[in-house]
Amino acid sequence: LSDRADCIFCKIVAGEIPSTEVASSEFSHAFRDLNPVAPVHVLVVPKAHVRDATELGDDHGATLADMLQLARSIATSEGIIDGGYRLVFNVGDDAGNSVPHLHMHVLGGRVMAWPPG
Ligand code: AMP
Repeated sequence: LSDRADCIFCKIVAGEIPSTEVASSEFSHAFRDLNPVAPVHVLVVPKAHVRDATELGDDHGATLADMLQLARSIATSEGIIDGGYRLVFNVGDDAGNSVPHLHMHVLGGRVMAWPPG
């Protein structure tokens, strides 16, 4: 519980620290990344704390569907739905995961390399 109390994205969801909100839904909240790496860089997070994708279980189906539907809505409103976009979950150290609250990066507005660096 103590890491939830200190969780930066829980605080953003609660409005206790500032963020630039992009959209919100029943189970998810979306805000602009503080250090964008693409013209569109939005983070979609579940309102309820989940550490990362490894922690997801059978109970999280509705949450995940909600996150993906919010991402599609954001891609539409941000004007990248036709050009294409990338959805990324970083998990663990090798992937560079830095915030221990599940978040999906919605990236777009430029051509992105594959494979990623
Ligand atoms: P990850 O490396 O996948 O854990 O991504 C964490 C992301 O959160 C990074 O892209 C950071 O720039 C972003 N980030 C960290 N703190 C904040 C914040 N207070 N508001 C918005 N984005 C943040």
